[in-house]
Amino acid sequence: MIIVMGSGATEQQIDSIVKKIKEAGLDANISRGTERTVIGAIGDERKLEAEYFEALPGVEQAMHVVKPYKIVGREWHKQDSVIDIKGIPLGGKQVQIIAGPCSVETPEQMALAAQAVHATGCRLMRGGAFKPRTSPYAFQGHGAEGLAMFREAAKKYNLPIVTELMDARQIDTFLEYDVDVIQIGTRNMQNFDLLKEVGRTNKPVILKRGMSATIAEWLMSAEYIAAGGNHNIIFCERGIRTFETYYRNVLDVTAIPVLKKETHLPVIVDPSHAGGKAWMVPALSRAAIAAGADGLLVEMHPNPCEAWCDADQALNAGELKDLVGSLSLIAQAVGREI
Ligand code: PEP
Ligand code: MN
Repeated sequence: MIIVMGSGATEQQIDSIVKKIKEAGLDANISRGTERTVIGAIGDERKLEAEYFEALPGVEQAMHVVKPYKIVGREWHKQDSVIDIKGIPLGGKQVQIIAGPCSVETPEQMALAAQAVHATGCRLMRGGAFKPRTSPYAFQGHGAEGLAMFREAAKKYNLPIVTELMDARQIDTFLEYDVDVIQIGTRNMQNFDLLKEVGRTNKPVILKRGMSATIAEWLMSAEYIAAGGNHNIIFCERGIRTFETYYRNVLDVTAIPVLKKETHLPVIVDPSHAGGKAWMVPALSRAAIAAGADGLLVEMHPNPCEAWCDADQALNAGELKDLVGSLSLIAQAVGREI
């Protein structure tokens, strides 16, 4: 950490900062300029809080020099991580498209959806059994029964399943149904107790971006999972809240190259919850792949008009097929394949 003293800082104030650094078990290096004195704290600076030092007399500014996200950051892990999901690589050359309905509704709906996902060449399937709905009166998902329906439909095509976990008390049920990828939704990105619990499992985790979360907050949430021992984390940009009301959220395309710089972990994009309308999904998907996303999480439904949840943004089977077809050339142009 670097601590910049104010121009009027006294020797006594400098000594007191040095003392505090040493008390925390670090060494202090004092550099005296003509205008100001700068103190460098040498050692594991994660033990120090910048805000604490900034509140001390004589200090103008305190800043960390290393990133606080040490496991998920690129600083100590230069190569891209590839997450293995039942033999399917996410984060390598191949771009993965995870498709499926917003929510698990009926065995028939899931069977048709699984058939379409498989026929389109997608290798993973999504579907929500526990749904975070804005209204308590809206369909909340079938819960464990939904996981059973999902598992049954996906089994026929050997599709790994991706589904949202909202409550740590459901983890055993998720393990019982052998959920392949645990999704942490936007509303739970900073549910730190839930993140810690997921960190204790070895299941791949899709960590969606909180709808108002900064990149730094998102990375720290991933660090919570990683600190528990689970490093199989996939970031998912799903749009953020802004002043714009034309669409559901604003897809933050900039987050893709920024995350790629900051972390070695894969980054995928959910164009469905970003735009909130099916007709926006192809353009947002193309932008995501062109910007370097490692995959997509797309909502599709065998009959979107009858979807119980997020009907407006679901693609039908034909639209999903067209979308996947249209992405090949873009993937190739950026050195990837679908
Ligand atoms: C979902 O994927 O169904 C979902 C609820 O997404 P988000 O958490 O991004 O709103
Ligand atoms: Mn949805």
